[in-house]
Amino acid sequence: MYNRRKFIQISAAGASLAALSRSAIAKTISSGSATNFPIVISTWDFGIIANKGAWKVLSTGGRALDAIEAGARIPEAEDITNHTVGRTGLPDRDGRVTLDSCIMDELGNCGSVAAMENIAHPISVARLVMEKTPHVMLVGDGATQFAVEQGMKKEKLLTPESEKIWKEWLKTAKYSPVMNIENGSKPGDKYNHDTIGMLAIDAKGNISGGCTTSGMAFKLHGRVGDSPIIGAGLYVDNEVGGATSTGVGEEVIRNVGSFLVVELMRQGLSPEDACKEAVRRIIKKKPETAKQIQVGFLAINKKGEYGAYAIQSGFSFAVCNAQQQDLLIKGKSFY
Ligand code: ASP
Repeated sequence: MYNRRKFIQISAAGASLAALSRSAIAKTISSGSATNFPIVISTWDFGIIANKGAWKVLSTGGRALDAIEAGARIPEAEDITNHTVGRTGLPDRDGRVTLDSCIMDELGNCGSVAAMENIAHPISVARLVMEKTPHVMLVGDGATQFAVEQGMKKEKLLTPESEKIWKEWLKTAKYSPVMNIENGSKPGDKYNHDTIGMLAIDAKGNISGGCTTSGMAFKLHGRVGDSPIIGAGLYVDNEVGGATSTGVGEEVIRNVGSFLVVELMRQGLSPEDACKEAVRRIIKKKPETAKQIQVGFLAINKKGEYGAYAIQSGFSFAVCNAQQQDLLIKGKSFY
């Protein structure tokens, strides 16, 4: 869908700004203070449409948290072309669509839902968990029940197209789904992952983040990835910055990836270098496995500087600020 868009081979935090609309981006990343925000950044190509939703809030002086929720809701339910988030997400091995999501604000408040069925907007349920309950995380039927109690519509999420892809996968499935190799050739390969992870800084300089996904396609029923786990799929510290992840959630959880990225930024690393170090640790622990999988991190610091790093090539992220609303950047990678 976005193939025709400018696809940029660098991370914006990196040195080379060659193919970018130079002046706008250079200005954005060099001044290091209030001119860097509002800003919203999001994982993958569908980050562009999510950012546009978030920008409506940010550009009118709204709060980063509201921007995150508004943005994430677009790939969750309005964009029916993706098979990795929300309503049109691919099901688990048993044909059930189960969704994971979390959200975190500038005060350190957070909410999360995992393995939730029949509700198209997990990001909004995660926010309600954060705001209306004393808890951080609700799972499975309890999450669905809570969402309904809060007035959300229960609906069938498995679309005819997703069902067709799942049935095709069933013909050859050995319950070892190919993990996250872009452009895979077997049924479902090219749809089998992608989380929308979003980080925003509002005009006041406050940071929030969120992520939402249907997780690994054809997973075991009940499997939960990194995306609803605070510290793994998402972490925000308003003093330092925020980070989010995509890819094989198990590896991100094992390394508490997003928390690690934020802590590395606290120690002075740039967003890109912090993401790179988090990726390096995953590879170091399991060098052979790492060759087969994708994990990508995306981060922003308090100054509004951003960066990303992934194990494999193919990871993209979208950036939206006052200068440019539909910038898509190709993250750097180890392989
Ligand atoms: N991180 C997600 C999960 O493991 C999938 C992805 O982002 O590709 O569920």
